[in-house]
Amino acid sequence: MRKPVIAGNWKMYKLLSEAVNTAVGLKPLVANANDCEIVIAPVFTALKTVADRLEGSNIRVSAQDCATQNEFGAHTGEIAPVMLKDAGCSHVIIGHSERRQFYGETDESVNKKTHATIAAGLVAIVCVGEHLSERESGNANSVVAEQLNTGLAGLTVADMERIIIAYEPVWAIGTGKTATPEQAQEMHAHIRQTVAASHGNDVANAVRILYGGSVKPDNIATLMSQTDVDGALVGGASLEVESFASIVNFK
Ligand code: PEP
Repeated sequence: MRKPVIAGNWKMYKLLSEAVNTAVGLKPLVANANDCEIVIAPVFTALKTVADRLEGSNIRVSAQDCATQNEFGAHTGEIAPVMLKDAGCSHVIIGHSERRQFYGETDESVNKKTHATIAAGLVAIVCVGEHLSERESGNANSVVAEQLNTGLAGLTVADMERIIIAYEPVWAIGTGKTATPEQAQEMHAHIRQTVAASHGNDVANAVRILYGGSVKPDNIATLMSQTDVDGALVGGASLEVESFASIVNFK
């Protein structure tokens, strides 16, 4: 059985006090969600304080990006995964489409960041997903397979225990357009097959695959009813305590 994961990506929202208030407000509302892992991803400057305030709770803290290496050095502006661990993080989101689209993230840098994240003892939430034009031209499966094959290259079976995959069709992120449950299921099954081909059936059956793209309280249940959907990466609807809590507590 794959334990569901509901992760909230707060993107570049919330000052420190707002991040703390949201995290603290969330705690009692999700305290009984024992059958699912809950992760929130505030901005870098809020990670340590939020992690401290969530200590002892069932909510884990994720960064939204990291450096490609753990060795300290002259890399102005970068933050190593070991530093994120030191700040109280357990997860790192890697290769989000906004990083790929606007900040030059490539499948190769995703691969380096994923290796560095695992070496630091953290869990990598590796994001993949096609653009609308790629879907319309019938290339969605090959685009996603390439992102996975390069992004996860060189990871051992043990490393793969620390991988969560997030399928986020770019055309569904922040647009209000959700993939239909059938579209999500079809791609999740394809992702699992791709992982089976690269890392074997046991790894493919165990890896959690989250859907992301305009997940809301009113569509989470149908998405989660799909066989290969193991959770959600939630952007906009994770910013408000009530909406994120009702996604976590979906029935
Ligand atoms: C995201 O940021 O990963 C995301 C899926 O955003 P939204 O839920 O707002 O579409």
